Amino acid sequence: MYCVVCGEKSDKNKFIFRKILTDGLVLDWGLTDKQRRGRDEKESMFCPVCSSSMRSRALARGIMESRFFKGVNNLTEWVEVASKVGLKVAEINYCGDLHPILNKLPGLVLSQYSEVSFRARFFNWLKGVKKEDITNLSYEDNSFDLVVHSEVLEHVYDVDRALSECGRILKPNGVCVFTIPVIMRRKTIKRAEVDRETGEIKYLLKPSYHGSGEKNNLVFWEFGGDFIKNRGLKVLFGSSQNGVYVFIINKGETLVKNRG
Ligand SMILES: [Zn+2]
Repeated sequence: MYCVVCGEKSDKNKFIFRKILTDGLVLDWGLTDKQRRGRDEKESMFCPVCSSSMRSRALARGIMESRFFKGVNNLTEWVEVASKVGLKVAEINYCGDLHPILNKLPGLVLSQYSEVSFRARFFNWLKGVKKEDITNLSYEDNSFDLVVHSEVLEHVYDVDRALSECGRILKPNGVCVFTIPVIMRRKTIKRAEVDRETGEIKYLLKPSYHGSGEKNNLVFWEFGGDFIKNRGLKVLFGSSQNGVYVFIINKGETLVKNRG
């Protein structure tokens, strides 16, 4: 194994598989056994040293490719160089196990978007983590070199607004690197919507949640390949087997090419 997050290299150690998805989520999402196994791998295959998941490592690779520094082999080394050059990074929602490493960047700004468990809310309050609405960020225009988020957009109803907000806060040569759950061969399904006037959530399908099974992290969107195509999103790399897809948006590119 080689961990691109912490740099652990070992012939003896292995990434650790765990079952992560709840039966309820698998049923709601209509996953086959094979798709479930792939997504369990994506959310586990934990590094025995830094506990990063397969998804976290994919995101780390995306971050390292978005701002390439010569001679850098893992995220830990990347953060050292990025600190020296004074990179400004917005992490929207904890990027799981990447956070402790990204947090070493003097230029890191962390905020929390989605509704989270009581425990997490308490922790955020204790740590003074700011809550930010990804569709209406409080940050100034042109202020970050890099914006990172992971598995957030499926929980955001106005997803196009979220994408353009990420673009707005980027510096002219900045990039947004993110992951979303997507099944490329399917069409996008809208599970819920928000009433524009009342702000109330209207369920179009049985409410589906991500995470521990608590009723937070409502899924608005089950993304399919059409979502990616319609918006001209660039896949930095991906695997249909595990459903791990890392996307990159450059500030200069039109963020929303075709709504639909
Ligand atoms: Zn590791």
